[in-house]
Amino acid sequence: MYKTTGFKRAFVLILAAATVVAAGSVLYWKQVSQRLSQDARMAIVSVSRELGENFSQLLGTEFQVLSSVGVSLTRPGALKDTQALVVYLDKQNKSNSFTLTGYQDAKGKAVFSNGKVLPDFISPENVDYAYKHGHYISGRRKGPFTGKDILVFAVPMPAPEGEKAGVVFATQTLDFYSATLAANLLHGEGSSFIIDKEGNIIIAYPRAAYDNLQKVAEASVFDRGRSFLRMQQEIARRERGWTGYTLKGEHRFASFYPLQYNEWYALSVLPTRSVADRAQTLMLMSLVLCLSIIIVLGLLLLFILRMQRQSSKALYRMGFVDPLTGTDNLNAFRFKFSRAAAAFKEKGIPYALVLVNINRFKAVNDIYGFEQGDQVLKQVSAALQAEMQEGELCCRSGADTFLLLLACPNRTELGRRVDALALRAGRYCQTDGQCLPLSLTCGIYLVDEDVPFYIMMDRANLAWASAKQHAGQICAFYDEEFRRQIVIEKRIESTMDQALNNGEFKIYLQPKCDFKTGQTLSAEALVRWQQPEHGMIPPDQFIPVFEKNGFVLKLDMFMLRETLALLKRWKEENKALVPIGVNFSRLHLEDPRFIEVLAQTADQYGVEHRWLEMELTESVVFGNVDLMKQVIDGLHEKGFSVAMDDFGAGYSSLNVLKNLDFDCIKLDKEFLARGEGNPRMRQIISGLVQMIKSLGSHIVAEGVETKEQAEFLSGIGCDLAQGYLFSRPLPPQEFEKRLQEDKNPS
Ligand code: C2E
Ligand code: CA
Ligand code: CA
Repeated sequence: MYKTTGFKRAFVLILAAATVVAAGSVLYWKQVSQRLSQDARMAIVSVSRELGENFSQLLGTEFQVLSSVGVSLTRPGALKDTQALVVYLDKQNKSNSFTLTGYQDAKGKAVFSNGKVLPDFISPENVDYAYKHGHYISGRRKGPFTGKDILVFAVPMPAPEGEKAGVVFATQTLDFYSATLAANLLHGEGSSFIIDKEGNIIIAYPRAAYDNLQKVAEASVFDRGRSFLRMQQEIARRERGWTGYTLKGEHRFASFYPLQYNEWYALSVLPTRSVADRAQTLMLMSLVLCLSIIIVLGLLLLFILRMQRQSSKALYRMGFVDPLTGTDNLNAFRFKFSRAAAAFKEKGIPYALVLVNINRFKAVNDIYGFEQGDQVLKQVSAALQAEMQEGELCCRSGADTFLLLLACPNRTELGRRVDALALRAGRYCQTDGQCLPLSLTCGIYLVDEDVPFYIMMDRANLAWASAKQHAGQICAFYDEEFRRQIVIEKRIESTMDQALNNGEFKIYLQPKCDFKTGQTLSAEALVRWQQPEHGMIPPDQFIPVFEKNGFVLKLDMFMLRETLALLKRWKEENKALVPIGVNFSRLHLEDPRFIEVLAQTADQYGVEHRWLEMELTESVVFGNVDLMKQVIDGLHEKGFSVAMDDFGAGYSSLNVLKNLDFDCIKLDKEFLARGEGNPRMRQIISGLVQMIKSLGSHIVAEGVETKEQAEFLSGIGCDLAQGYLFSRPLPPQEFEKRLQEDKNPS
C-alpha cells in the first residue's frame, strides 16, 4: 500500500515540478521574446537613425565636393574653352569617384566629363530648385549614356544675387550607394532603403523586390495599429518612427528616419524571424536545462523513495515477517487479526482461533538435524497457508507453533476441517521420498466473547494442551468441558494445601511381580486423593496441576515420608521388606539440595537407602542429559537405586540411555499397547529389551493386563511385571496382606 502511495506522490511531485517549469519556461520565453523584440525594435530604430545620419552626411559631402568644383569653375576663362572644361571635369570626376561630373550653363547646355554634351540634362525647374535650396538631388533615373539607375546631384554655380550662372552636377550609380546601405544592417540581416516622401524606393539593399512602399503596403499585413497609412502620415509630417508588418508570412520591423535632403527617408527593415530564432534558441536552451534539472531531481527523488521503501520493507520484514517461512509472524497476525475478525463479525460468520503444534518436533531436530527441521517447518507452513480461504489468516507464532484464524459456520464441520487440515499438513516427505512420522495437534477457541487477543491465544493453547493429553486426538475445542476442567483445577489449587494437612492424600502400593510366580518382589508408591466431598480423584487429574504450580514438590516429599514410614514400620514389625519406587517430578532436579534432602529424610526414618527406588520420567531424562547423569551418580552414591519411568511413551534414544546408569527401565503401558497385534512393533520391543538388558538394567513392564502380554514380555526377557493382571494399586494394609500371602502361599 505504502509502495503505490509513495510512487504516486513522487509522480505527482515530478508532474507538478514539470508543470511549474513548463509554465515558467513559457513565461520566461514570452518575457525573453518580448524583451528581444523590444531590443530588436530599439536596434532597428537606431540603425535607421544611423543610416539616415550617415546618408545625409554622405550627400552633404557630395554637395560640398560639387560646390568646390563650382567655385573653381568661376575662375576667369574656366568656362571659355569646352575642351579644357571637359579635361578639368574629368579630372575632378576621377578624384571624386563620381560616375560623371558636368556643368550645365544657364541656357541648359550640359557638358559632361566624358566630353558629351546634352541639352537640359537637369530640367529648368530642378535648376530653379537648386538655386532656391542650394542643392538638388534627383530621384532614381536612368543614366544618360549607360542606362544604369543613377542619382544626379547638382549645386548652383556661385553668382551675383538674382543671376543664374548654371549648375555643377554629378551622377552616381545606385549600386554605389547600395554598398553604403549594406554597412548599416543588423548582423547582416534585414534590409535598408532610402525612400522619398511618396514612398518610392530610391536605393535598396539588398535589391528591393518592390519599387514603391505602396506596393509593399498592399502586399503586407500591418500590426499593432501602426498601419502603413500611419507611417505615410508620419513621413509626411517628417517624423521619425517605426512599424511592424507581415509580408509573405514573415513578420518584420521597419524603422524610418528623415534625411536632411529632399524630404527623403532612411528606412531599415529587420525580419523578426531572427529575433524569434534567438528567443527560441534561448528558450530551448533554458527548457533543456530545466528538463535536465527535473530529470535529475526526479531520479534523485525516485532513488530516495526506493531507499526509503527498501528500508521500510526491511523494517516491516524485521517486525512482521517470519524469517524462516517468509510468512506472517505473530506480530503481523495480531495486527491483521482484529480487522479480519471484524470482517467476519460484520458478515455474521462465527470464527475461531486455532493453535497448531507439531508433535515431538524436538525429536525431528535431534534425529534429522536442524536443516531438516527447518524444511519441515517451511513445508508445514506452506501446507497450512494453502488451506486458508478468503478472509482467513495463518502465521508461525513460535518455534513449531502456528496460529490460524478460521471461519466457523458450523462447529462440527470446523472440527472435521481442522482434523483434515492437520493430517494434510503433517504429511511431510523428504525429497528422497522418505516420509517422517509427523503429526499435528490443534487447539480451537471458537471466539464467543470479546476478550483480549492474548486470552484467546491462552484458550486455544489450553484446548491444544487438552488435545495433547488424549493420545490419538488431533484437535480439541476450548468449551464448556474445558471451563469445567478449569474450575476443577481452580478447586484443586484452592484445596490442595488443606488436603495435605488433613491427610486426604493416601499412599497406594502397586506390586511389581515375577512373571512366572506372580510373587511381589517390589512395589511402586502411587498417590490417591480421597476428597470428602468428591470422592477419589485420580492422580492424572491433579498431578499435572501440581506440576504447574509446584505443589508436586511437597506432595512427592509427603509420599516419600509415607513410604519411609511404611518401610520403617515393617522393619520394626520384623516383616520382610521389598524395595519401593517413589515418583519424583522433574521439578526436584532443579533443587541442588535434592539428593541431600532425600538421604537425610531416609536417615530420619532409619531406613536403608537400598529399599528406595527413585522413579524419574523419560521426558525429564532427555531434557538435560548431563544434569541427569549427575543426579543418577549422586543417587547411586547415596545408595539409592534409580528407575527410568514411562520408557517408550515419549521419544526415546538408546544412545542417550547408553550413557546413563539406570538400575531399572520401566516400559510404558502405551508402548506395550502399540505392540498389540503388531508383529513389527513386537519385534522392535523385543530388540529394545535385548539392548537395555545388555546395558545392565532391569526391565519392568508397566500396564500388563493380559496373559498374552505377560507371556510375550517375559518371553523377551522382561524382569518384572506391574499391571492389573497381577495387582491393582493397593492400600498399604492390603499390600501387606499380599506380601504375607506371597511369602506363605496357602
Ligand atoms: P506412573 O508412574 O506411570 O504410574 C503407573 C500408573 O499406571 C498408575 O496410575 C497405575 O495405577 C497405572 N497402572 C498400573 N497397572 C496398570 C494396568 O495394568 N493397566 C492400566 N491401564 N493402568 C495401570 P495412577 O496411579 O493413576 O498414576 C498416574 C500417574 O500419576 C503415574 O504414572 C505418575 O506419573 C503420577 N503419580 C502418581 N503418584 C505420584 C506421586 O506420588 N508423585 C508424582 N510426581 N507422580 C505421581
Ligand atoms: Ca511411576
Ligand atoms: Ca510409569
